[in-house]
Amino acid sequence: MKTAVVLVAAGSGRRLGVNAPKCLYEIEDIPLFLFATAVFSDLEEIVEIVLVVPESRILSVRESVNEFRITKVSEIVIGGATRQDSVKNGVQKLSTGISHVLIHDGARPFISSELTKRLVDGLNVHSVVLPFLPVSDTLHYIESGNIAGENADRSQLAAAQTPQGFKLELLRQAYASRNSNTFYTDEVSLIRDTLGVNAKLIEGEQVNIKITTKDDLELYEKLFREKSEMYFN
Ligand code: C5P
Repeated sequence: MKTAVVLVAAGSGRRLGVNAPKCLYEIEDIPLFLFATAVFSDLEEIVEIVLVVPESRILSVRESVNEFRITKVSEIVIGGATRQDSVKNGVQKLSTGISHVLIHDGARPFISSELTKRLVDGLNVHSVVLPFLPVSDTLHYIESGNIAGENADRSQLAAAQTPQGFKLELLRQAYASRNSNTFYTDEVSLIRDTLGVNAKLIEGEQVNIKITTKDDLELYEKLFREKSEMYFN
């Protein structure tokens, strides 16, 4: 088993409201995407990392990877118009011999080595693994800004995280047979709909959040500092 990571960091990050693509925004002088990249690079379970970034940032990303000596980055490729296109671009660049891949959002900087190892272990047995959290809030359907109808039944819901893990051959098959007019926000949905294969659920971590707004950056400031000392000093 040879597992790689495709880390997608090519989104614009409009909701973050900063003057840079979200994953390139620097915290403690470290670009956001590098936090997760460093965790994966340190793990013996991961053999290579493909980074997917905005075209205008290829050079600066290469410089950061070199500066912080992230050794396992094999390719830095240009992202696509949607997350799905960015994932596809990254998967195409994986080396021959890779059997499994973890697809991770560069905007989730607090992925832990423990969760990554649990997912790789899961891939020893299952073709698709999905880290998830049970939903604890009450959920309402909204229509035109008002609460509409019944509540969603949270006991039947799971909030999906990344990295999502796949047998590479299966993911390639799903991309080849997908309907190009249907867009998925994650690959677990793509595989379920195109190949009828369901993911094995693996418990995720509260801290593995997706940085979305400026408030997130302030809220997690302490954690960014700790991680920065752990990986970049
Ligand atoms: O937009 P969303 O928050 O769902 O993005 C999740 C991840 O996908 C982010 O890490 C973002 O950089 C990445 N992405 C990408 N290419 C796009 C859109 C999003 O790599 N076109």
